[in-house]
This record gives sequence, structure tokens and C-alpha cells, in this order.
Amino acid sequence: MESSVPCIGLRVRSRTALWGWVFEGIRVYNGVIFQYKEHLDRLYSSAKAIKLKIPLSPEEMTNAIVETVRRNGLKDAYIRLVVTRGVGDLGVDPRNCRKPSTIIITKHVEPSYGAEARQNGVSVTISSIRRDAVDATSHEVKSLNYLNSVLAKLEAVEVGADDALMLDRSGFISEATTTNLFIVKDNEFFTPHSSAGILQGVTRKRTINLVRELGYTMFETTLTPYAVTNADEAFLTGTLGEILPLVKVKGIEIGDGKPGAMTRRIMDAFIKIRANPTEGLPVYQETQKTISRR
Ligand code: PMP
Repeated sequence: MESSVPCIGLRVRSRTALWGWVFEGIRVYNGVIFQYKEHLDRLYSSAKAIKLKIPLSPEEMTNAIVETVRRNGLKDAYIRLVVTRGVGDLGVDPRNCRKPSTIIITKHVEPSYGAEARQNGVSVTISSIRRDAVDATSHEVKSLNYLNSVLAKLEAVEVGADDALMLDRSGFISEATTTNLFIVKDNEFFTPHSSAGILQGVTRKRTINLVRELGYTMFETTLTPYAVTNADEAFLTGTLGEILPLVKVKGIEIGDGKPGAMTRRIMDAFIKIRANPTEGLPVYQETQKTISRR
């Protein structure tokens, strides 16, 4: 599924360093920034892991984001939050970039975004491109290093699939290009463990908890491609796609090739969660001070 966020034009100064940015993608539903704390935690953890000092404290960042959404008068939106290493020279040594900077992009996105894919389900191929190994650049860092996702997506396009699953170095299923995978087998839920090189999705975490809240058994484990093709049901999770039924892998139908009943149950429960103001940060009841932009 394509992101609806437009490409941005940046004025590139001659000494702008272009390496190693971290980012977040966050949804706003009915004026509430959904799972805000979880996204903010991941942003600061990603930055810490690559020694990037975010120029705003979490409180300042929160005020800046709330203010951006508010000034744009947005109720349902997507926020793309990017922290760059700032201006420096063209080399990779981050010490030459002394002042990191923050970019906040917001765009109206309907809660129904991706409704057709959610209704009918999506197909995937299995890509020849591997996720980064756990001992390569950290898969847990949400950086702009997305080349393997881009190449895997191109493979999907080539074979007419909607997306691609990527394997880890051992051949176990890791995740799709911008979403995490869940399967259902005999009324139990399974999702690849972090050791398969996944990005630990905010939606994944909320879904794991949701599955358990609904009383089902949930395993974080290793999954083979065979387990996916022979699952009763499967779905993908992500901020933009939410819960997306996966109905075909490499041309093989999963279950009866239609979104399954258990998947629908999780989707319905998720829609209630995202409509719940206590699941996020309300923008319009906030009395936080506006902070000065740097
Ligand atoms: N994996 C990758 C590689 C992603 O880019 C994303 C989107 N951020 C996800 C999984 C899903 O994560 P989230 O639920 O936090 O959007």
C-alpha cells in the first residue's frame, strides 16, 4: 500500500550531512494522537541507539507536534516526524554535524484510508532481499535506511503482488516492507519474534496486547514460509494500514483466500481502540505551552 504523504523538497545546503536520520509515522484520529507515548519512546530510543541527540526534550517535542497539528486544524491526520543530524559536511562522521534538527510534516488522512485493502485483503510475494541481520545495522532503529524495503517492494511490483515478506538471515519470516506479520492457526496467534530482524511496530505491540485482552493465545516465535502459506488466516499491522488481512502469499491462497473471521474480530476491536481517546494524546484539550521552534 502506498503512503499518501507527498515527497518533500528540502533546500540542500552545500554542507548538509545526509546520513543517519530517525523518524516516526503517527496517526491522529478525531483530534487524538494515537499511541503517542509509544511512538515518542521509539523515536528517542532509536536516536539514542545511533548517538543522535534530539534537539528537543520529549516535552518540547510533544508541544511542537501538538501545535503543528493544531495550527493546521487537523482532526484526522498522519504525522511524519523526522530528526536529522543537521548541517555538517558531506562525510559520514556525525561529529561534523553539531546541531540536529527536527522536521514535523502533517497531512490530512481519513480514518478510512486503505479501506479497500482492508476489505478485500492484500497479497504478498516472498522477497529475495533479506531484512538486516540482528548484528548488522540495528533493525530496531527506525531510521531512514529503507533500501531493503524499497528493493523488496520493487520485487513485489514486478510480480504483481501488493507487497513482499522479507526473510531473516536464517530464512525465517521477518516482516513485510513497512508492516509486521501475524498468522492465525487453530485459533492461536503467532508473530515473528524480534530476533527475526523486525522493526518492533507500535501497531504490532498494541495488537499483541489486544489479542491477549480478547482471551486468545499469542506467541512471539520463529515462523517459516510454510507456516504462512498453511496458516488459517494472516494479517499485517502498521500505522497507516492498521490491520490488513493477508490473503495470498506467492500466489497461494491463505485459508479460503478471503479475510478470516478471527482477523475481522481483531480489526473490529482495533477500530474501537483507535476511537478511544485514552489510547493517545488529545490535541485540542491540551493546554501545553507553545515552544519556540529551533
Ligand atoms: N516494519 C517496518 C519496516 C516499518 O517501516 C513499519 C512502519 N513503521 C512497521 C513494521 C510497522 O510499525 P508501526 O506499527 O509502528 O507503524
